[in-house]
Amino acid sequence: MREIILVKYGEMALKGLNRSSFEDVLLRNIRYRLKQIGKFSYTKAQSTIYITPEAETDEACDELLSAAMPRLKKVFGIAALARALTCEKDWADITKRAVPYLEDALNAAKTFKVEAKRSDKAFPMKSPEICRELGGILLEQYPHLSVNVNEPDVTVTVEIRDTNAYVHAAREKGAGGLPVGTAGNAMLLLSGGIDSPVAAYMMAKRGLRITACHFASPPYTSERARMKVEQLCEKLTPWCGSMAFYCVPFTEIQEELQRNCPEEFFTILMRRLMMEIACRLAERDDCGAIITGESLGQVASQTMPAIACTDAVATMPVLRPLIGMDKVEIVDIARKIDTFDISIQPYEDCCTVFTPRHPKLRPHLDAVEEAQAEYDFAPLVEQAIQNAEKKIFAQHVSESQNI
Ligand code: ATP
Ligand code: MG
Repeated sequence: MREIILVKYGEMALKGLNRSSFEDVLLRNIRYRLKQIGKFSYTKAQSTIYITPEAETDEACDELLSAAMPRLKKVFGIAALARALTCEKDWADITKRAVPYLEDALNAAKTFKVEAKRSDKAFPMKSPEICRELGGILLEQYPHLSVNVNEPDVTVTVEIRDTNAYVHAAREKGAGGLPVGTAGNAMLLLSGGIDSPVAAYMMAKRGLRITACHFASPPYTSERARMKVEQLCEKLTPWCGSMAFYCVPFTEIQEELQRNCPEEFFTILMRRLMMEIACRLAERDDCGAIITGESLGQVASQTMPAIACTDAVATMPVLRPLIGMDKVEIVDIARKIDTFDISIQPYEDCCTVFTPRHPKLRPHLDAVEEAQAEYDFAPLVEQAIQNAEKKIFAQHVSESQNI
């Protein structure tokens, strides 16, 4: 039957970016996401990537296309996508094959319209004529239908392009954004909570490749808490692509904090030490920014003065994509990306284990620095960086690979 997927990225996404590098990165990301499900060939032309399944039978091609669509809908940089029938640029071929191809879509609809895009101006029929002619044929073949140009149940599109004509009935919205990798790399502070996975999703959408780090404090935090964070990494890979993950041992730092520093500063000092370690790992891994899931005012460590005290130790920009969002909005995204159910599993995070009874809501940097100076954390910071365990998560590879 020769069915393919048309992937459109739209001119908007190209603003300010080098076109060919944008296309190359998008194509590479698409290949990576589809290579585990089977063989496809790829061509690009006119702001479109054409994905053709490589299989012997129509059934096998159909299966490949069905498996590819949901994956492609999670690839950033794609504005819209559609399964489409490939036809010769010949009106008789188009109409003969479009009628049966559109059967399922049109039987499920009451109203429809036809749209034509004719980028090959040498094609003998103009767009209005294509719409009128094909509309007439479809009305004849599917007499239950009527035309509605404003709000049709189905829009049938005929595209006359350079080498072929394409017919499709359902154009679906893509994930939007920019291809992962076009904006550089960033280090995500990944807790087991609801917010930080959402922050990862949002920044990957702007083209950042994500590396994550998690601070664990065994035995105060359990092995299951760590597994939960690894599960979150796995859930993020369909959006973020493959992801490096560091698990940083944080127990000794927290114990010395508790032993030596005033309780009201525990949280803020912990966050500063996390930030320092995250920046060091980020520099080593060629990341240009830190990402956190903080939202202004959500908890004591997320007031403006507290954020200022944390940022004072950062050596690179700290991106906080959730800063102006309500919890409800964040939860909506967490559900959409399917991290919510994992995030709400009740395992202790290192922050909750060491939460002070009365945290300072408006810490002053001087006082915070003084509290931190009670103990020399530098050797423990070095040790934590040295002992951080690295893993790579790849999409749908059930055994994550230890390196
Ligand atoms: P989240 O839902 O992401 O856990 P939260 O509302 O619980 O956020 P905090 O616990 O104050 O808020 O954490 C704020 C941010 O600090 C998190 O979004 C995350 O980026 C980072 N963070 C907190 N705990 C850890 C941890 N154990 N390891 C790595 N990053 C952490
Ligand atoms: Mg948390």
